[in-house]
Amino acid sequence: MMAKIIKDKQLNRMVVSACTPKTHEPLFQETMIDAGINKYLFEMANIRNQCSWVHGTDPEHATQKAKELTKMAVAKVALHESLDEPELEINPSALVIGGGISGMTAAKALSDQGYHTNLIEKEERLGGQAINLHETWRGEDVQSRLKALIELVQNDPNIDVHLNATITSVDGFVGNFETTIDMSGHENVLEHGVTIIASGASEFKPDQYLYGDDPRVLSGLELDQKLIQNDPSLKELRSALFIQCVGSRIPERPFCSKVCCTHSIKNALALKAINPGMDIFILYRDMRSYGLREDLYRTAREKGVLFIRYDDGKDLNVGIDGEDLQVMFTDSVIRRKMKIQPDLLVLATAIVPPKENPLAPLYKVTLNDDGFFMEAHVKLRPVDCATDGIFICGLAHAPKPIDESIAQAKAAATRAITLLAQKTIRMNGTVAQTNPFYCSSCGVCVDICPYSAPSFTEEGPFAGKAQINSVLCKGCGLCVASCRSGAIHLKGFDNDQIFEQIFALNEAI
Ligand SMILES: Cc1cc2nc3c(=O)[nH]c(=O)nc-3n(C[C@H](O)[C@H](O)[C@H](O)COP(=O)(O)OP(=O)(O)OC[C@H]3O[C@@H](n4cnc5c(N)ncnc54)[C@H](O)[C@@H]3O)c2cc1C
Repeated sequence: MMAKIIKDKQLNRMVVSACTPKTHEPLFQETMIDAGINKYLFEMANIRNQCSWVHGTDPEHATQKAKELTKMAVAKVALHESLDEPELEINPSALVIGGGISGMTAAKALSDQGYHTNLIEKEERLGGQAINLHETWRGEDVQSRLKALIELVQNDPNIDVHLNATITSVDGFVGNFETTIDMSGHENVLEHGVTIIASGASEFKPDQYLYGDDPRVLSGLELDQKLIQNDPSLKELRSALFIQCVGSRIPERPFCSKVCCTHSIKNALALKAINPGMDIFILYRDMRSYGLREDLYRTAREKGVLFIRYDDGKDLNVGIDGEDLQVMFTDSVIRRKMKIQPDLLVLATAIVPPKENPLAPLYKVTLNDDGFFMEAHVKLRPVDCATDGIFICGLAHAPKPIDESIAQAKAAATRAITLLAQKTIRMNGTVAQTNPFYCSSCGVCVDICPYSAPSFTEEGPFAGKAQINSVLCKGCGLCVASCRSGAIHLKGFDNDQIFEQIFALNEAI
């Protein structure tokens, strides 16, 4: 690490021109605090990412750029002001949305640490998608374990379960949320400091391959139901064929649903266990039974399950020939057209998020392009949402198997507890501020802010003028750039500071 600290002794400001990641900025700010200096009197010239990384093959120009960046940082920091961080009390209780395995696991983890939790489920019973699943890839019986978890949650005095509950409105912010739920016409306002979203996803219902028209065509979960019920008709089957990636990895839904390869292999083995003589075919595009699940794939091959790669660019056709189901496709390895007439056709369909997701606008959290809740940072904050105090886990975040949903639910609960364990929290000082004298009440800032921080003042001499809730503000600067009246400024990024940086750059060139 090469760090050069330029400290103005009179003003007590610090510029760090550092070959360290931007993520180390908080460490430098800690140093400022330890030295008794306001941490906002700090500026970093990020010469690692912006010079040595991107111009590694041109050291001369990289050094020149590093000098310019450092001069700009010095010019800016000279105009920095000490900023305050609002302090907030935290309500030490949690709200978990979704009574599937993820939501119940998160609620139990919170309760075990002594935090009161409200668990909201829109359906009349707990369980979510796991109600439909037969066994995990390790062969654990899902139904008995699910029953045990539901009992634990329902009998936990620290968890209030609200079934048939619809969330109608959400107010507040990290530490002090107010969520209103409607249960059969009765409204209830729940106060909580953190929110965990575990609202899940569901099985895609295709309108192809005779699904819904022929009872011999099932989805993966429908076959699980038959396995759970020990359906005697399964014993009679002479052959079964699975089609992978139905509704997944196509232009409208480009993501992989992650569980389907292992799910089909597991169910193929379950059918083989019922009737070892059964012919079983799995038509796949790419087999993705990752990690130790690969062993299941090997076992399936040893037991005679046939894996055939189909060419999804060419026609895959399911029809009826006389009384029989008939599947026609092109084997992409031998490049021949194939025809199989199975007794049972199982479609490994995609895991899809809800078409309309009311929770995203209510809690002001972002969805990714596929419609799942998006984490704040895939590596550094994988269960946090960008909105403070809101965490995600399970299928609501992305398709994943039960073991990974449980791990993520525990991670989300633990992250939530890091907030709940504090009596108060300090918010960011780099926030936007309005000047009501300049505000023309156009409302652009109110419309454009992704965090709903600006609103119109309702009372007093500035009624009708925009104001910013500094607790909600993330300092993104969107409102500042959009304000046509120049009525908003972002603390730490004022016009004079930006201009000083530009002047410093001009002088340096
Ligand atoms: C088709 C399919 C096949 C799968 N196959 C396998 C497999 O073979 N092996 C495996 O390990 N895992 C499999 N999974 C994944 C497994 O089901 C999940 O990882 C696990 O059940 C955890 O799900 P969850 O709790 O995150 O979500 P879910 O089980 O979907 O639970 C979410 C809950 O939230 C509720 N909810 C939704 N919106 C709201 C709202 N606005 N307010 C209140 N409540 C709400 C829902 O009613 C539901 O009860 C499969 C999933 C699917 C869909």
